[in-house]
Amino acid sequence: MKPVDVVVVGAGPVGMTLACELARHGVGFRLIDRVLRPFDGSRGKTLQPRTLELMDDLGVIARILARGEWTPAIRVHQPGGETAIEHLFGGRLPTSDTPYPRPFTIAQNLTEEILRGRLTELGGRVEYGVELEGLEQTDEGVVLTLSAPTGQELQRASYVVGCDGGRSTLRGLLGVPFEGDTDETRRLYVADVRLSGLDRTSWHSFRGRGGMLNLAPLATTDLFQCQAAVPPQAPDQPTLPLLQSIINERTGCDDIRLLDMAWGTAWRLNVRLAARYRVGRAFLAGDAGHVHSPAGAQGLNTGVQDAYNLGWKIAGALRGAPTALLDSYEAERRPIAAWMLGMTSALEAQSFEMKGLPTGRDDSMLQLNLAYRGGVLAREQRAAPGYVVAGDRIPDATGLIWNGTPARLFDVLRGPRPTVLAFGDRWGEALAALRAHFPEPQLALVQVSPNGEVVDAEGHLRASLQITGAPLLVIRPDKYLGLATDRADAAEVEAYLRSLIG
Ligand SMILES: Cc1cc2nc3c(=O)[nH]c(=O)nc-3n(C[C@H](O)[C@H](O)[C@H](O)COP(=O)(O)OP(=O)(O)OC[C@H]3O[C@@H](n4cnc5c(N)ncnc54)[C@H](O)[C@@H]3O)c2cc1C
Repeated sequence: MKPVDVVVVGAGPVGMTLACELARHGVGFRLIDRVLRPFDGSRGKTLQPRTLELMDDLGVIARILARGEWTPAIRVHQPGGETAIEHLFGGRLPTSDTPYPRPFTIAQNLTEEILRGRLTELGGRVEYGVELEGLEQTDEGVVLTLSAPTGQELQRASYVVGCDGGRSTLRGLLGVPFEGDTDETRRLYVADVRLSGLDRTSWHSFRGRGGMLNLAPLATTDLFQCQAAVPPQAPDQPTLPLLQSIINERTGCDDIRLLDMAWGTAWRLNVRLAARYRVGRAFLAGDAGHVHSPAGAQGLNTGVQDAYNLGWKIAGALRGAPTALLDSYEAERRPIAAWMLGMTSALEAQSFEMKGLPTGRDDSMLQLNLAYRGGVLAREQRAAPGYVVAGDRIPDATGLIWNGTPARLFDVLRGPRPTVLAFGDRWGEALAALRAHFPEPQLALVQVSPNGEVVDAEGHLRASLQITGAPLLVIRPDKYLGLATDRADAAEVEAYLRSLIG
């Protein structure tokens, strides 16, 4: 086979996000998956606000919002059907700096369908029925053994990324330990069911005899996702009669009738973190790097953010950026996964043991304030930085005029390249020098001033970034603040940009 830049193994949400990113950067790739057709179940049904921002950048936010709903209240029922209380899953109202402020519910298969559609628009596709079986690595690249419907093939590539799920083949081939525990006593049925006798205006939680039971309507479908603690001796595969008896027992009434089951599985508590995310030219992302409880709805979200972090770095390395850029992937993403494992385990225990209902969602759980402060790519050089410092997520800001048209900051930043935001009129020479070194579309150069490309007409941009004075900011392709400086030193900014995009 002709060598390619990257082989992405696994076309779940993480592999497809990565493939979209690589396509946007013009990187050549193959995206393979051993299954013959896409997965068809609701599994990871909650998108966190930071993931919605990623989907906005990728150009699919309208499609996502059209296929799901803002996560409704969860109604906790007393045994017998009497309503106890409704809780909201945290979050807040939209503001200028946070357009998507609350968790959003959409079945994972619909999210995947939307990503697949975007990938097609970007010129990519999934090769189904192609499985990774072997790996050899040299300093120059990798040679992969793939089994395809046409037989075995060898594929050379500069890099390989394992987005191949919790049982990752690539992780095994690399010999990377998957450290942590599996608790066989904590099992949960998860099934997509059609039923009668329950309204679709809220999630329903029954916390009576026999363990927890949640029934969550999946908007834009006629399905509910059923989650039920598995009784001790029950089999791993749920059946309709078994789920019906669990529902009758735990609701204490018989007016909810199951009509059919579109998909069902049993999940067991498995909390593990890969000891490394990178071995030479091979990387792990998504569930291949971290698995944990679904409580708190972090898994898919953390995985797609891994892909968002890694895609532009691989593109930069292929253009000649220093290897420290690739090292920063594990340095930035693994600590976040380690934190997430602890946080979701605590929620899991609370929810499984029915010690209250953990519905509070702070900005970490919404993934809005997970940041890379103090990391290798974070250069904070201002004398008086505000609340948002190098390494932080870039918030949105409304009320801008961008080349004469009303816009918000996310419109200005949208796309796979870094953006230089230069506040005030003193950066003319530096911007001209940068323009000569990095022509469009490698870099977006934006002067924010009454005479610039962007006018902060209502002051929201300065307020949301807490800008004082007239700094220059370099915003990374994944929309984190990279460099923040007061010094009008184009050479320094150029060197920083070279370290990002080669
Ligand atoms: C019951 C349940 C509820 C969940 N709820 C949530 C939630 O609310 N929010 C949330 O964020 N997450 C949730 N998750 C987690 C979420 O589903 C996963 O985190 C997500 O699917 C991980 O995506 P991924 O792309 O890393 O892996 P996967 O979706 O597992 O995709 C991996 C792909 O790799 C392919 N593959 C494997 N091996 C090979 C090979 N050797 N060669 C080629 N292809 C291969 C597989 O066929 C598969 O398609 C839930 C999970 C479960 C089970």
